[in-house]
Amino acid sequence: MGKIVAKFGGSSLSDASQFRKVKSILDMDPRRVYVVPSAPGRRFDKDEKVTDLLYQTYRARQNGADFRVPFAKVRERFGEIKRELELEINIDEYLDEIERDIENGATEDYCASRGEFLNGLLLADYLDYTFLDPKDFIFFNPNGTFNSERTNDTLTALLKYTKKAVIPGFYGNLDEEIRTFSRGGSDISGAIVARAAKAELYENWTDVSGFLMADPRVVPGAKTIRNVTYRELRELSYMGASVLHEDSVFPVHRAGIPTNIRNTNQPEERGTIISHTLPEEESPDVITGVAGKLGFSVISVEKAMMNVEYGFGRRVLQAIEENGLSFEHMPTGIDTLCVVVNSEDLEPVRENVVNRIMELTQPDSLTIHDNMGIIATVGRGMVHNPGTAARLFTALSRANVNVRMIDQGSSELSILVGVDHSDFQNAIRAIYQEFVKA
Ligand code: ASP
Repeated sequence: MGKIVAKFGGSSLSDASQFRKVKSILDMDPRRVYVVPSAPGRRFDKDEKVTDLLYQTYRARQNGADFRVPFAKVRERFGEIKRELELEINIDEYLDEIERDIENGATEDYCASRGEFLNGLLLADYLDYTFLDPKDFIFFNPNGTFNSERTNDTLTALLKYTKKAVIPGFYGNLDEEIRTFSRGGSDISGAIVARAAKAELYENWTDVSGFLMADPRVVPGAKTIRNVTYRELRELSYMGASVLHEDSVFPVHRAGIPTNIRNTNQPEERGTIISHTLPEEESPDVITGVAGKLGFSVISVEKAMMNVEYGFGRRVLQAIEENGLSFEHMPTGIDTLCVVVNSEDLEPVRENVVNRIMELTQPDSLTIHDNMGIIATVGRGMVHNPGTAARLFTALSRANVNVRMIDQGSSELSILVGVDHSDFQNAIRAIYQEFVKA
C-alpha cells in the first residue's frame, strides 16, 4: 500500500473541533500514515496564532518584561485542547519545562518551535500515532542552510520502522540546538517527510480548497485550479499567487511526488493537484491561471545596430549587477534591450545605474518607465492552442489596456505583459474572462 504524508496547517488544528476533523480525514484513508502538524492558528478573525504568542514570549523575556503573561495564553490554548479531547498526556509538565527553558534564556527559534512540538504531542496522543521529534532527524548545516541529504538518509531509516507517526513541522536541529525554517515552514517539513517516506502523495491540508485561477480580490468567484504542474506553479507563485511556502515545492518535486492542496473544512472537495507531468490524455484548459505583481520599473536602452555590437547586453547587465540589483525579465527588440527591475530596489541607486549604463554602452536613448505591473498568463495548454496570444491581446485591447511590454518564454508556458498600475486589475479581469468559461 502506498503512503500519504498529510500536513495540516495552523487553522486546521486551531482547537479541539479542528482536531476532530483531522482525525476523521485520517480515518477516511488508511494510506495517511505520517502527519505533520503546524502550531494552532487563529480560531476567529482577531485571534492570535500560537507561534506569534511564542515570539511575543521570547521578546518579553529578552526585554525583561513578564514573559509569563503571553506564555499563559499558550498554556491556555494547549490546556483547552487537552481538556476538550479528554487526553491522558500530561501537557502541563512539558509546558513547565519549556517555561523554565525560556526563563533560562532559550533561543528565539527554540521558543517559536514549541507550538509545533506541543501540538504534535497532543495530536500523537489523540490519534495514537508515534511522536517523532524532528530534532533527531531534520538537520541544518552550520551556515544555517538545510542539510537535505543527511536528513533524508536519517529519516528514511527511521520511517522504515515507524508505521504511523506525527512529526511536528517548522523545525529541526543545528548542532544540537533547535533551528526553525522561515515562517510558514511546516510546508517544508511536510515535503521533507514525503520525500523520505517515498510517499505516493503529499497532502497539504489548509483552509482553502486549492489555488484559484486568479486573485479573488481582482476576479471575484475565480475558479479553483484542478491540476497544475510544478513549473506552472513556479510561474504563478513568482507572480504572487501563494498558498504554499516556496521552498516546500523542491523536495517533493525532485522526488516526483505530487502535492494535493486540500481544505480541512471541506474535505469532499478535491482541491488542487500539483504534479511533475500530467497524464497525456488530459486536455488542459488553454490557461491554468493568471497572476500579477505591481512595483516594477523597466529600463529601456536603445541603440541602432545593437545586435551586431559584441557584449552590449553584458555591459547593460554589468551596470545592473554592480549596483546590487537583480533583474526580473529582459525582453529585447531589434535595437532595444529592456531590463525589468523591482522599483523599490532601483530607487536608491537609480542615478548610478543610469550613469553606468550610459558610460558602458553609449546608447542612443535610455528611459525608465516606473509604475509597471507585470501579469503572467500561465498555461501548459498554450503550446497546443494556436492563436492564444492573439486572443489575449485582443481581449486587452477591447478592455482599453495599453500593453507596454511583452515577453513570452520560449517554453510557451506563459505570456508576460507589462501594463501601467492603473490598468492592472482591468487587464487581469479581461484575460480571465477571455479564457475561463463561467
Ligand atoms: N507555525 C509556524 C508559522 O506560523 C510555521 C507554520 O505554520 O508553517 O509560521
